[in-house]
Amino acid sequence: MGVPEDRPTAQPSLTAKSPFELRVNLGAGVPESDVRTALATGDMGFLHSFTTGSAVDGPGLRLVAWTAGCMWRCLYCHNPDTWTMRNGIPVTVARATEELRKYRQGLQVMSGGFTLSGGEPLMQARFAVKLFAAARGLGIHTALDTNGYYSDRITDAELELVDLVLLDLKGWDPERHRRLVGMENGPTLEFARRLAALGKPIWVRFVLVPGLTDDPDEVAKIAGFAAGLGNVKRVDVLPFHQMGRFKWRELGLEYTLADVQPPSSDTVERAATAFRAAGLRAY
Ligand code: SF4
Repeated sequence: MGVPEDRPTAQPSLTAKSPFELRVNLGAGVPESDVRTALATGDMGFLHSFTTGSAVDGPGLRLVAWTAGCMWRCLYCHNPDTWTMRNGIPVTVARATEELRKYRQGLQVMSGGFTLSGGEPLMQARFAVKLFAAARGLGIHTALDTNGYYSDRITDAELELVDLVLLDLKGWDPERHRRLVGMENGPTLEFARRLAALGKPIWVRFVLVPGLTDDPDEVAKIAGFAAGLGNVKRVDVLPFHQMGRFKWRELGLEYTLADVQPPSSDTVERAATAFRAAGLRAY
């Protein structure tokens, strides 16, 4: 494949203020055959952006690369522009590594690291592995933020390049989960068990959406499962918000949660308490 040069002209910067910038069609000019080769080799990937200074996507301050492409369609997704790879900027591994190198020293001083998020990073598993190898080569702590559905695309040996997995657990009941994201949760739970067997640390992320994911019985079951794994170091209960709502409108997508209010701090605390009751550190 002729890996295209990253395109500086008329392209937004590879870095963004936040993942809430709406980005569309930035990879639309890449020929289909090059996309296929990129997926097979991982020499090039499709990124929404890099953001700096995150304090919520792993320990310390993080440089986050947001990948484009996701196989799920969560009703509450904040970044539906990352559902398709064609919305992402085509970026070579070399170019992405430059970004890592640029922030390396600061990340180390701030006890932080590099987090690959999305979208769903394992849609582009070969690219993800190459980025983790580059980060590891620079001595940067690595975290993978994933829904786990395509975890069979990364081997145990490749997971050695990942210091921490931020695993999104979205629901327990399979039918509810399917209604919420469009697919079943079996592969995600299987990945969690695999990570436990490998002794790989997990931070669980759980998005609390009133009326959708706040059923106490569901929360208790997720908490019990997570606690039973033995490798979950932390749980973040993330309150649903409406910051991504405008993206649904701009993309012409039907948004069914327009009337849903963010959960109260009491409701969030109740969910966190359920995780704590199972013996986990939850925030
Ligand atoms: S897994 Fe993440 S990126 Fe994919 S649809 Fe759900 S919230 Fe959006």
